[in-house]
Amino acid sequence: MYDIVAIPAFEDNYIWTIHNDKHAVVVDPGDATPVLSWLAQHDVKLTGILCTHRHDDHVGGIEELRAVYNVPVYGRQHMKNPHITHDLKEGEKLSLEEFGLTFDIMEVPGHIDDHIAYHSSAPAILFCGDVLFGAGCGRNFEGSVKALFLSLQRFASLPPSTLVYCAHEYTASNLRFAKVCDPDNPDVADRVIKTAEKRAANQSTVPFTMEIELATNPFLRCKEPAILHSLKRMGYDATDEESAFAALRAWRDKF
Ligand SMILES: [Zn+2]
Repeated sequence: MYDIVAIPAFEDNYIWTIHNDKHAVVVDPGDATPVLSWLAQHDVKLTGILCTHRHDDHVGGIEELRAVYNVPVYGRQHMKNPHITHDLKEGEKLSLEEFGLTFDIMEVPGHIDDHIAYHSSAPAILFCGDVLFGAGCGRNFEGSVKALFLSLQRFASLPPSTLVYCAHEYTASNLRFAKVCDPDNPDVADRVIKTAEKRAANQSTVPFTMEIELATNPFLRCKEPAILHSLKRMGYDATDEESAFAALRAWRDKF
């Protein structure tokens, strides 16, 4: 048995923590301080670290955590990421036996090159770092926009019941964009209300299901006529799904 909780860090990061009453594994500990205090408070020992990609707000706490707990760090090795002790590649599996969880490793470039995601099919959960967010997606810092498009398409083909644990609380801000580019979508309107209620109660909007993403995330809905129409209105020349995605990403960058 296990539970998954968010340890908030910085302004809007979530350090996802899989734990039982003895052990915990953290995903993307950008800051060690809140993790160490959570572990002390719950009298739980850290047994591993999962890393989705090498951005500072995801790896910044690893060194300090490992000075206290000399645990394996799983992730994609990269010359600019000195923290990874166990390299993971596309198609490999990672088992966390103490929690009965097995993840399939997905290489999902497009935010940055060495980004991976951890997907379990039973239970259906996904740790996707900065590739997919609630109603949005990560920025394209490295590699092609097409790579980001293809990574998101892979997530879109996962079962709709999949619970998605992304690394930032960006849903409300992403929905402001979704409302402009997909203005008549009732699911977007509904999600705006529910998201506002949750945020007002200081609750996280993550995790969310892939089902709600397919219904409301413009970056997964690029072939919808309403979105193509909005792109045209904004002066973007998008003829197919992939060019519509690139146009949406460009529009969002300056939104
Ligand atoms: Zn990032």
